[in-house]
Amino acid sequence: MLISVVVPVYNEQEVLPHLFEKLPAVLERTGYSYEIIVVNDGSHDGTADWMRQQARLDDRIKLIQFSRNFGQQAAMTAGLDYARGDVVVVMDADLQDPPELLDAMLEKYYEGYDVVSCQRISRAGETWFKKFTATAFYELMRRAIDRRIPAEVGDFRLYSRDAVDALRAFREQHRFMRGLVAWLGLREAFIPFHRPQRVAGETKYPVSKLIKLAWTAISSSSAVPLKLCTYLGWIVMACGLLSATLIPLAAMNWISVSLTGLGWATFQLALTGFQLIAIGLLGDYVGRIYEESKQRPLYIVAETCNVSVKRDMPRSVWMSGRADFATSIPSEQESDGVIRIPTRAPRRAA
Ligand code: UDP
Ligand code: MG
Repeated sequence: MLISVVVPVYNEQEVLPHLFEKLPAVLERTGYSYEIIVVNDGSHDGTADWMRQQARLDDRIKLIQFSRNFGQQAAMTAGLDYARGDVVVVMDADLQDPPELLDAMLEKYYEGYDVVSCQRISRAGETWFKKFTATAFYELMRRAIDRRIPAEVGDFRLYSRDAVDALRAFREQHRFMRGLVAWLGLREAFIPFHRPQRVAGETKYPVSKLIKLAWTAISSSSAVPLKLCTYLGWIVMACGLLSATLIPLAAMNWISVSLTGLGWATFQLALTGFQLIAIGLLGDYVGRIYEESKQRPLYIVAETCNVSVKRDMPRSVWMSGRADFATSIPSEQESDGVIRIPTRAPRRAA
């Protein structure tokens, strides 16, 4: 088995010596072969030079150098594209994602999970502002956008080969990996951990970049913001209706409100409400075009029984998983006469 570790890095020259002191040792201990893929996301410090030197010393260390800063999401994507491992682990460079969790992650993988996510139960050395915004972000994502996005799970994850291949089917420009993983709906296990502080250097996410990421997360996972206009339109329309019901009361002098004023208010509210609803309707169509333009797969097949898997169906992902009993039945895929015994335990129900 080959383990690929993908590490996106941006100006991390102070951090890398710490990472490479620890990570290879942990990987050696697993007894499997491994590759460490560092994706240099347009760093302008000594990151590239330091990494080139490491790659020269050990060919299991790979360097993918971006022409400029494309962002962590793009760097992770490049790493997943390149990785050849049977399992791929994505982690930050700053040792906030402890490599020691690898054994526990592999254990879960062997239990049959396609995604093993590490879930933070505490965060050391982070300002109250960062903790507050992070909690607010996860709450917003879960309540308003996608309930499937787990709280306190970052990008520190192990993916099976199947999961990586499924993720690679997503080629949309504005991407939020956590949203994509949630969308896939694969069998996911969680490993709780205490998140230590950065081993050196500063966070690469200033507030402006965090806001940008949050907006990408929201807009790429959901069309809810487009619907807000429609909701607002109905509220304004309801106010218009209320104002209309007051007109007869004012006409009969039961309430002392100017009839002309009330008439105008009703007219304005009804018109604004109508306009907002019309914009919302337009937004709904734009939202559908947006969804279509992403060219996402139409469905993900996690497992089949007695079904010969055809992998050339456009915009669909067929994972290699199959039910227990099917492991002894040669499928069409195995018409070369070779019965391939799965290398790990059969999948469990999620
Ligand atoms: N990173 C990246 N490109 C960026 C920003 C960050 O590749 O534009 C990398 C960074 O080097 C680190 C990981 O993404 O390995 C997470 O960044 P950071 O630790 O600064 O985020 P935080 O833990 O503060 O949320
Ligand atoms: Mg960090």
